[in-house]
Amino acid sequence: MPNFALLIRTKEVENVATVAPIAGRRWGLKLSCASCSEVTPNFVYIDESETVESDGGSANAMFSCKFCKKQISVNVLTKAYGTYDCTSAKPMPVAGFEVRGAEPVEAHLEEGWTVVATESEKEFSEGVNLDDDWVDYDDKGEQSVSILGVEVSFAKLGK
Ligand SMILES: [Zn+2]
Repeated sequence: MPNFALLIRTKEVENVATVAPIAGRRWGLKLSCASCSEVTPNFVYIDESETVESDGGSANAMFSCKFCKKQISVNVLTKAYGTYDCTSAKPMPVAGFEVRGAEPVEAHLEEGWTVVATESEKEFSEGVNLDDDWVDYDDKGEQSVSILGVEVSFAKLGK
């Protein structure tokens, strides 16, 4: 069963060292069906603390393709959480998913991120919504911090 990494790349950051997902957060994905290639019309939310059972087994999320009815299941790979280094110009993996019957094509980043400021190493995790531009002020380091734009991509993970 194929595993996929979710990679991010920040377009423009100010005084931010790293960005990492908060473990246990939910993930919104759009998936392309492996049988008919149709993409789920809405985001499907996957919560690693939830287990859905079906004839074929169990997973964090399980549903049928709306078009061809193929069963799709998704598990969060809890060991695949990673940290994005903002000095990198390249996309870096920050999360992973085991997907059966489909492949991920889009992610809803929303809230659930920890951002670390450069000077003070102050952590921000409340209200860090990476679907929008994020701007805050680091009172310890006395500097503004921001992330303007995040690109998302996916890559197949080797076994
Ligand atoms: Zn389908």
